[in-house]
Formats: sequence, structure tokens, C-alpha cells
Amino acid sequence: MLDFENIIVGAGLAGSTIARLLADKGDSVLIIDQRNHIAGNTYDFFDENEILVQKYGPHIFHTNNEDVWIFLCRFTEWNDYKHRVLAYVDGKKVPVPINQDTINILYSKSYDTEELIEFYNNQKIDIAEIKNSRDVIVSQVGEDIYEKIFKNYTKKQWGVYPEELEPEVIARVPVRTNNDSRYFTDRYQGMPQEGYTRMIQNMLDHPKIKILLNTDFLEIQNELKFEKLIFTGCIDEFFKFKFGKLPYRCLNFKFETVDKEFYQEAAVVNYPNDYDFTRITEFKHWTYQKRPNTTIVKEYSSAEGDPYYPVPQKENYKLYEKYKKEAESLEKIYFAGRLGCYKYFNMDKVVEESMKLFHTLY
Ligand code: FAD
Ligand code: UDP
Repeated sequence: MLDFENIIVGAGLAGSTIARLLADKGDSVLIIDQRNHIAGNTYDFFDENEILVQKYGPHIFHTNNEDVWIFLCRFTEWNDYKHRVLAYVDGKKVPVPINQDTINILYSKSYDTEELIEFYNNQKIDIAEIKNSRDVIVSQVGEDIYEKIFKNYTKKQWGVYPEELEPEVIARVPVRTNNDSRYFTDRYQGMPQEGYTRMIQNMLDHPKIKILLNTDFLEIQNELKFEKLIFTGCIDEFFKFKFGKLPYRCLNFKFETVDKEFYQEAAVVNYPNDYDFTRITEFKHWTYQKRPNTTIVKEYSSAEGDPYYPVPQKENYKLYEKYKKEAESLEKIYFAGRLGCYKYFNMDKVVEESMKLFHTLY
């Protein structure tokens, strides 16, 4: 029988944040992960070209939350990378989020900000109440831009059209009237100088924390004794799907080595209307490594496989509420992270929520 004050399931950002905060208080922690590595979906490693690649897709850190930033700065330094994304549309590569250049390139115009606002005003459709992700876009910029950039990308990514998704999905991507081509405008942004795995390794490097990898908690739970359990895996799986399965969107990644210094103009290029993959990521744009070749990854989305994204739809949130209620009735057991809370959280939100949970425990 293994006996720890705290058992944490999942060595991703959520589990690792809580583990460290508990350990700093003097509590013993066993952190368990079924994968053969720490860092969850932020896991990165040096591939055969010695390029620091991210196994589960592009993760760019950004936040306006000073507490989160200060906490993470204990474990890493950051580079000055500002994320930029292009979308391949009508044979051209244009900035996303939509800005002045996007419109001028797509429509062969040279609008200044005022003219651009007028253009948006002429295109946009009045919608009394924003009910879904399609409404978010057409109410700002109209049907044509929606069709070119959002409609088919969303179908590929989520398996459904934007009408069927909650507004918050597409609302992640703003519409701009200036020429700011950064993907994020948060006060703090960048990439961990030595990668996310190193950052999380530093977080877990504490005498009170023990790590157990390659282990499914659900298979060994009867052999564990604990005062508190924090579970960051899928909440429906924890409860043996008693109310039904929560849908998650899954991803497949196809890595390729390309024998030239750079493959594309930006770290991420989205393909809304062409090919089966959603986007191509090229890591060297933020690792700043000098190498004669480069690694890219193509991202394919599907309904089956490992869970990556909760699917933001009303009926799924309703089902999640049943699990949440059940979770709240348990003593000593808490749920955290993207899968535990069934929320489309960014990394900073995961850290913020994990800090909050820690404060309710202490
Ligand atoms: P995870 O990282 O998923 O960790 C959960 C861990 O629990 C996993 O390692 C899993 O193996 C383990 N686990 C689950 N069940 C069990 C079990 N039964 N037993 C043992 N272990 C178990 N956020 C940003 O801020 N910026 C971005 O650019 C960004 N890009 C993203 C791109 C992609 C493709 C994806 C999928 C996500 C992206 N995110 C981004 C979100 C970010 O990945 C998450 O917010 C964050 O990593 C979630 O951390 P977590 O600890 O909750 O979950
Ligand atoms: N989106 C789109 N076209 C784009 C970029 C984003 O339709 O070129 C939509 C799509 O539905 C996507 C959502 O906006 O899932 C959120 O985009 P984000 O880049 O935040 O997605 P993530 O990086 O989390 O996959």
C-alpha cells in the first residue's frame, strides 16, 4: 500500500502546479501519469534533428495574469517569441487574426483603418443575440470572410460547423482594425527558454514530490492511501461514464523533416479550405535554433483517439454538470485541469484554476 498525503493524477501543467504548491507547504505528493513522460500535452523533446519539438502540437504561452506569470517564472526563463499565424486562403497567405493586411491582401485593397471599419460595417450582419460561433464572426465581418477563414477550418477541427459550437470557440480569435499581426496581445508572452518539459521538471523537482509514470491511476487506485486526491484526467472516465461519455476532440500529428533551413513564413500556417490537416507548425520559428534542416508537424483532427479538447456545445456542458455535481459530493477528491473541468482552458487558465484549487485546500 502506497501512503501519501496527496495523490495527483496527471503530470501536466494542472497536476504539476498543484503538486508544487502542496510540496512547498510541506505535504508529501505522489504524482501519477499514464504516459511515459511528465508535462502532459505541453511535452517537448529534442528530435533526431536536435530541434526542440512539441509532441502534442503548438503551445504558446500568454497571459495577463501576473500571479500565474510570477509563479511560472520560478521554474523557467522565457524567450521573447511573439506568436504569428498565417492562413492559406485563395492561394494567398494572410495574417490571422484578421487585420488590415488580411483584408487588403484578400480583396486587393489598400484600406486604412477608417476605410477598414467602413468595410466591416458594410459586410457585417446584424444579429440580435449571439448564440453560436458563426454569429460571432458574421456579426463583425460578414459572410464572405467567415466562409474563407472560419467555416471549413472549424468543420475540420471540431467535426461540426460553427453554428453548432458555443460562441466562446471562435471568440478566441479577435477581429482587428489595425495591423497588429501577433496572435496574442497579452502582457506576458513567450516560450520557456529550455522548453516546457524542463519547466515542469523544475516544478516537480522537490524532495516532497515523487513521480510515477507509465501507470493508469484507475488500475491501481485500490493500492493507494491518501488524504487528498486531485484528478486531472477525464472526469467522465473517473466515474466510469455513469452518465454517458463526454465527447472530446482528438488529434493526430504527422511529423516531417524538411531538408531546408525553413519550410514556411510563420510558425503556424492554417489551411481552412485545403488538405485534410488543419495546420502546419514549424518549431524553429520560436526555438531560434540554427540548423540546416527543419521539423514540421501536420495536425489532423478526429472524433476517436486520445482526448485533447472538450467540445464546447450546450449538451456537453449539461452532461458535464452531472459529473461536476457528482464530484462535489465526494470528500477528499478534487478535479482540475482541462479534462477534469471539461473546459477549453489555455495554459495560463489551467495554472490559475489550479492555484485557486490549492487555496481552497489550504
Ligand atoms: P494535460 O496536459 O492533458 O495533462 C493531463 C495528464 O493526465 C496527461 O498527461 C494524462 O496522461 C494524465 N492522465 C489522464 N488520465 C490518467 C489516468 N487515469 N492515470 C494516469 N494519468 C492520467 N494553451 C495555451 O495556453 N496556448 C497554446 O498555444 C495552446 N495550444 C494548444 C494546442 C493543442 C494542440 C492542445 C491540445 C492544447 C493547447 N493548449 C494551449 C492548451 C493546453 O494544452 C492546456 O491548457 C494544458 O496543457 C492542460 O493541462 P492539464 O494538466 O489540464 O492537462
Ligand atoms: N479558427 C478558424 N480559423 C482559423 C483560426 C481559428 O476557424 O484560421 C477557429 C476554429 O474553430 C478554432 C477556433 O477558432 O478551433 C479557436 O482557434 P485557436 O487558434 O484558439 O485554436 P487552438 O490553438 O486552441 O486549437
